[in-house]
Amino acid sequence: MIELKNVEVRYKDNAERDSRGALAGVNLRINDGEFVFIVGDSGAGKSTLLKLLTLEKQPSAGRVFVNGYNLANIKPHRVPNYRRTIGMIFQDFRLIPSMTVYDNVAYVLRVTDKSSRFIRQRVPYVLSLVKLSEKAKSYPSQLSGGEQQRVAIARAFATEPKLIIADEPTGNIDPQLSYDIVSLLLDLNKLGSTVLMVTHDHDLVQYFGGRVMNLKKGTVTYDDYIPPDGGGAAI
Ligand code: ADP
Repeated sequence: MIELKNVEVRYKDNAERDSRGALAGVNLRINDGEFVFIVGDSGAGKSTLLKLLTLEKQPSAGRVFVNGYNLANIKPHRVPNYRRTIGMIFQDFRLIPSMTVYDNVAYVLRVTDKSSRFIRQRVPYVLSLVKLSEKAKSYPSQLSGGEQQRVAIARAFATEPKLIIADEPTGNIDPQLSYDIVSLLLDLNKLGSTVLMVTHDHDLVQYFGGRVMNLKKGTVTYDDYIPPDGGGAAI
């Protein structure tokens, strides 16, 4: 569960919008199991919102609760445990080039001290979810952009995160393949992870529908459900 209460974020050197902040009076609640698209023009505050959730930024005012943690007073020694409740997916994939597909996924499990038995079962399972079992021994450079992003999705889901944050996951991908990426995220959502996906791609949002949150100049200006495949409210 994600809950923001009256959250303000100001950057000290942001003279342009000093009076209102990068986020201004944001209230929102996302329950476990939801899939939410976050849209908004450049500068709207989307990255700032994600930085709050990943603890890269603290709010200037207000409170943020995520997965049972109150982020305002989370103890430093609990930060790694908190971060492990989240799987991240980035626009630029961020795979380790010197590792095979298998090891890219296994690595995140090794660093969290999962047993080798668990790793031997979990890695093939998540690679099969993203339909890349036969690429386990390939290196990222041998894969297409879409395939690399599917590896990144498998890696994000390997740790059984409560929340998956996808930051413009289709930004570097062939438009037709973008639909596969969102479909995979929906599969993971059905398997139990809450998914938050930031995107600029309004066609994708219209196609899949669901809960859409629009940020504009640091505030939530739209938060509602739209039906799949267009026909929804204008956002
Ligand atoms: P988005 O991700 O929607 O493009 P951001 O969260 O990056 O928006 O930015 C929101 C606002 O905060 C913008 O006005 C931006 O210029 C400002 N901002 C973002 N990061 C910084 C920073 N490190 N220092 C100063 N201002 C920043």
